[in-house]
Amino acid sequence: CGIVGYVGPQSALEVVMAGLKRLEYRGYDSAGVAVLADGGLAAAKKAGKLLNLEKELDGRPLPTGTTGIGHTRWATHGGPTDSNAHPHLDNAGRVAVVHNGIIENFALLRAELEERGHALGSETDTEVVAHLLAEEFSSCADLAEAMRLVCRRLEGAFTLVAVHADEPDVVVGARRNSPLVVGVGEGEAFLASDVAAFIAHTRSAIELGQDQVVELRRGGVTVTGFDGSPADVRSYHVDWDASA
Ligand code: GLU
Repeated sequence: CGIVGYVGPQSALEVVMAGLKRLEYRGYDSAGVAVLADGGLAAAKKAGKLLNLEKELDGRPLPTGTTGIGHTRWATHGGPTDSNAHPHLDNAGRVAVVHNGIIENFALLRAELEERGHALGSETDTEVVAHLLAEEFSSCADLAEAMRLVCRRLEGAFTLVAVHADEPDVVVGARRNSPLVVGVGEGEAFLASDVAAFIAHTRSAIELGQDQVVELRRGGVTVTGFDGSPADVRSYHVDWDASA
């Protein structure tokens, strides 16, 4: 339902949690975050309100990192439980993904993954994407390229945002029939389903086009089509009043 991603000098957890709070008005049944830190990936997720996730993080704090993603879920496939909450991870725990929308062909992809030895632990349509990204990344070592390859195999409507522990300063996003906005700051960049999530940090935004992948780094953003072709990027100024 709501998605936030961050890369920059700040604590990613703080930026992402504040962003998720700005998206609470959309309604949701669960929430979760993932942060890249110390060469690894740490995640926390909880059914219920953001307050439940905050309590979980108080009891089991994540290491501090400057790259992270977060999600508020409105369940479509699988009930609103802790294990169905996003982010979803691959079996090695190196890649994390959050998703808005529906992957229509997930059952087939899931069966293929299980045949190849992957163990899927949730009932969501989303989890297949984490496993597929891990597979593609293991041969191309490039998260944006892995995302492009995976997106070409997906049917349905999706906003996807992912991180990989082997690319600690990168957040990758993709969209088809579902919104995704990029925020470009000074030495930092944001991704969100709605500008409300990052308006406190930057007013420079890029609306991602249909079937496009964006790679966020501290130094800037790169946008390509699912086929790898470079895309035109037009940024605009958000003058919408955040206090409204
Ligand atoms: N279809 C996904 C799920 O049920 C994503 C739902 C959403 O958009 O929040 O987990």
